[in-house]
Amino acid sequence: MEILLTPQILGMLIDQGYTYALARSELYSDDGFETIRLSPMKEKPQLPELPNGYQTFYKLTHEPLQMLSSGENTRLLVDMEPQIDLFSTDCDDRYFRYSEAFFEQVLESIQDYAVYTTTRNGEINSWNSGAEHLFNYAKYEILGLGCSILFTDEDKSNKLPQFLLETALQNGKVITEEFHCGKDGMLFWAKSIVFPLFDEQNRHQGFTHIIHNLEEKKKSQNNAIEAMSLASNIIETSKEPVVILNQNLSIKKANKSFYELFQLNEEESSEKNFYTLTPGLDQKHLEHLFNEILPQQHDCKNFELRYMSPSGKSRILVIHAKRAISALDNCIVDILSIEDITDERTLQQEKDDFISIATHELKTPITVIKASAQVLQRVNIEGASPMVKKYLQKIEEQAEKLIQLAALLLDVSHIRSDKLALNFEEFDLSDLVAETVEDFRMLQKKHDIKIEELCACTVNADKVKITQVLTNLLSNAIKYSPETNSIIVRVFPDPISQTVTVSVQDFGIGIPFEEQNKIFKRFSRTNLVGEKNISGSGLGLYISAEIVRKHKGQIWFESEQNKGAKFFFSIPAK
Ligand code: ADP
Repeated sequence: MEILLTPQILGMLIDQGYTYALARSELYSDDGFETIRLSPMKEKPQLPELPNGYQTFYKLTHEPLQMLSSGENTRLLVDMEPQIDLFSTDCDDRYFRYSEAFFEQVLESIQDYAVYTTTRNGEINSWNSGAEHLFNYAKYEILGLGCSILFTDEDKSNKLPQFLLETALQNGKVITEEFHCGKDGMLFWAKSIVFPLFDEQNRHQGFTHIIHNLEEKKKSQNNAIEAMSLASNIIETSKEPVVILNQNLSIKKANKSFYELFQLNEEESSEKNFYTLTPGLDQKHLEHLFNEILPQQHDCKNFELRYMSPSGKSRILVIHAKRAISALDNCIVDILSIEDITDERTLQQEKDDFISIATHELKTPITVIKASAQVLQRVNIEGASPMVKKYLQKIEEQAEKLIQLAALLLDVSHIRSDKLALNFEEFDLSDLVAETVEDFRMLQKKHDIKIEELCACTVNADKVKITQVLTNLLSNAIKYSPETNSIIVRVFPDPISQTVTVSVQDFGIGIPFEEQNKIFKRFSRTNLVGEKNISGSGLGLYISAEIVRKHKGQIWFESEQNKGAKFFFSIPAK
């Protein structure tokens, strides 16, 4: 087995009594190196009787090695015959001091770092696999070359490699960051540490170089900087006030709208605590956001907050908040986007007030119109033509529609002002469903309403309001299945959730998938009903959902366009 002669191997051979070495030299092998092969001997060889192929012999001391190995393009190999036991058990400590195998194992295990050693002059004489990987030079390509090959041309011309070696020798080590140059001119940013190496007699023998590639770190730092600058621009251009707070609630970044909203001066605000900067905010409520919601959920939407501006105006703010980790410095930050909804709220309130007043005012005249039409129909108007009778009938029908619309609008305004009152009583839901279905059967003959399942189940609920929900579902089932006539009703309890569910199924036009998420919203109607000219207000399901919610129940549906719809509502059973 042949191994490269290093100062460690040499020291070890001398320690074991190998003080001579036969030498044969191969001039300029394929790779351009002169290889000198040494065969260690304990006895001094006799010059005239050298074994075949050996041209000379050396006395092994530290000095000649230093001289030879520092020669350019010379490689010294030792023929380790089996009897040469470098690792004999009685020299355990020397194993650790000298064993190249041991050091190699250690160095090879450091994959993420390039570790190489150089002579005093900077010629590379060991190269670990981390170095192979990082610089892309194989061991055989690089051993014996000056380490300046690993530096950029600019650093070479500035004599940086020599400077690093000299500084390391002077100061015990040198740590720098610079571009390094791998095979084929590949450049990468790396951190390098250079230590001087001394032998047992404390003579300077060379240097250890440890290189850590920072390219990935630099790239991710650059990405983080880029992302930060992008985020900064987004925040800056956002119309809404946005602020990023550090963990101590000081401002890390805020946009112009934020400073405008709270009438703050940017320079004076830095470093100051958010609470101190915004005394007009409901601080107790804000503490709930920072101390309870964000630590637990990391995310919070529509957090409503009252704000008294410095000029004494009361505002309503909505905060969307997110707790995140800043990519740049790994610190926790809270991002708040603030919306001032005062004007929107006022407008909404005015609209709700208008609807409420208008419906109140309309209710009485409409009722009077309807009653008058009924009276006129009943009294026998002399000579009244069939046309008069027909129009009186129309007046009554349309007045009834207006009364129903006014009632819906009143319900909406009660819901909006949280004044929808319920009168709870105990009753059997199956009886109520049977009665309501019977009323519907009497009122219209076109649709065949079947009750397929009817389980007796007592509930504690508002009978009038639950009838309203059921009536809405049944009239929708009739209205939205103009070309089919089957409607199926079921009442079934769920013992596990202790609820009772009512379902109303039709086989009509159905609800298109893309519109399904909106139909419980106020004034919401599908495009399909518009196309088919089926009239309605878009309020029934909104009110039904609110009534069911107030009963701590649930309302939902299953539907496919042109295949019909099946609406369910469930409320707690008694
Ligand atoms: P309205 O029926 O007065 O428009 P609703 O709030 O009761 O108001 O219903 C909202 C919308 O939901 C309806 O306009 C219709 O588009 C859709 N919808 C409700 N029930 C059904 C049903 N059974 N089949 C198909 N579409 C329905």
